[in-house]
Amino acid sequence: MPQRDLILLGPPGAGKGTHAEHLQNQMAYLHMSTGDILRAAVAAETELGKQAQAYMNAGELVPDELVIDLVQERMTQLGAEEHYLLDGFPRTVAQAEALTALVAELGRTAALVIYLAVSDEEVVHRLGGRRMCRKCGAIYNVDRDGLDVGDSCPECGGELYLRRDDQPEAVRNRLAVYKQDTQPLIDYYQQRGQLVTVDGEDGQAKVSERVAELAWGGQPD
Ligand code: AMP
Repeated sequence: MPQRDLILLGPPGAGKGTHAEHLQNQMAYLHMSTGDILRAAVAAETELGKQAQAYMNAGELVPDELVIDLVQERMTQLGAEEHYLLDGFPRTVAQAEALTALVAELGRTAALVIYLAVSDEEVVHRLGGRRMCRKCGAIYNVDRDGLDVGDSCPECGGELYLRRDDQPEAVRNRLAVYKQDTQPLIDYYQQRGQLVTVDGEDGQAKVSERVAELAWGGQPD
């Protein structure tokens, strides 16, 4: 079975980052998380970071042009035999259209879009308990892993923190933004025959297995 280019779609907290990491460990993927790239830009105080920071802190989307440019820059460097795994992009129909055009321009087959379906209640619960490593970006959960702010990351020893956009008000805003701007992508990709839905609440091991199966040539619904 051929390996597929992949896009992980779903609300914040659906497990996109976690499953992207599992996949990257199992098979060669160029993992592009626009959230990670933007957080690194903010930490390094680059021009991009300065432009993105206020939007991110408020749980708003960063303007389309900025994220489209950074994805385009990376995608054009991709070798024909390499595969990409997008997580957190696209987030608007304008971004999806730009990506579809870019993929066609590069002569690649359209990616498979895996939609990780998770309820609102579960999103609020997961993001409230999410803790991230300041150094390596690893994600933990207070309930599942028993780790909290100020603890050391088991992976790299970095300090765990609560992302500013995981605080309750920003979470509510991110969910609203998701519903308004990102949810329409489910229809967009369904109509294009690229979408597969996976129950994101089915237990991490099972979801991971299903996602890996799909990455190796699974068909859309
Ligand atoms: P994430 O880690 O994917 O939840 O992204 C964190 C934040 O980065 C989002 O709340 C947005 O402010 C910004 N961001 C990440 N990806 C995008 C995107 N594709 N379009 C616009 N903003 C984004």
